[in-house]
Amino acid sequence: MPELRVCALYPDLMNIYADRGNLLVLERRCRWRGIDFNVTASGLGERLDPDGADLYYLGGGQDRDQKLCALDLAEVKRDALHAAAARGAVILAVCGGYQLLGHSYQLDSETLPGVGLVDLVTVRSDGPRLIGNVAIEVELDAGVRRVLAGFENHGGRTRLGMNAAALGRVLKGHGNNGEDGYEGVRHGSVIGTYLHGPLLPKNAWFADWLIETALCRRDPVAPLEPLDDQLEADAHADARRAAGV
Ligand code: GLN
Repeated sequence: MPELRVCALYPDLMNIYADRGNLLVLERRCRWRGIDFNVTASGLGERLDPDGADLYYLGGGQDRDQKLCALDLAEVKRDALHAAAARGAVILAVCGGYQLLGHSYQLDSETLPGVGLVDLVTVRSDGPRLIGNVAIEVELDAGVRRVLAGFENHGGRTRLGMNAAALGRVLKGHGNNGEDGYEGVRHGSVIGTYLHGPLLPKNAWFADWLIETALCRRDPVAPLEPLDDQLEADAHADARRAAGV
């Protein structure tokens, strides 16, 4: 039986706005299709096995929890995460986790190290937090445009460098910094986004894209079988409506 192996990074510290719900969605959508699901956790001080998972997950967090995790990511898990990304494992990071994927997160006078998987920097702003319903247009597969809808709440402003591509284009909401119209980052199978909601219950199609990518079934000999997604489609439509898209 096929199996999806997920590693949740700092599940006790990096989990706000019910971001853990993203893992539940992955689990259910796998099990409904007869795909085994195995989740492990990696906390502070714990070494990461770069071959141990098909998908590594890092949820959102408050600045104080991010401080602990940033240092651990940089000192303990950095090499393993780079190795995992290099072999095509999916790395999905939300909000506070997303901010730690880049080079640095600057908080007042302190600059937290990022794990350096993608070319971006984040700076905590004195300005208002960027809060509200958000919808973005993404093109994960060439020529196929779809919408991700969710909710954002962040004080940090993220700016992509020359070597980074956005996950999507903001249709409604603030996105990375409220100015340039970009949201999130995508570098191969490394994906960061500010979208909570949680993200996957409101965007079930994206959960399936992640499962397929993690199981290397994007160019599918055996595509994932469709599920009855009426409830999920309604949740997605609600989230889009809330964002006004
Ligand atoms: N602490 C970060 C910020 O405010 C991320 C918050 C979050 O994960 N929602 O920018």
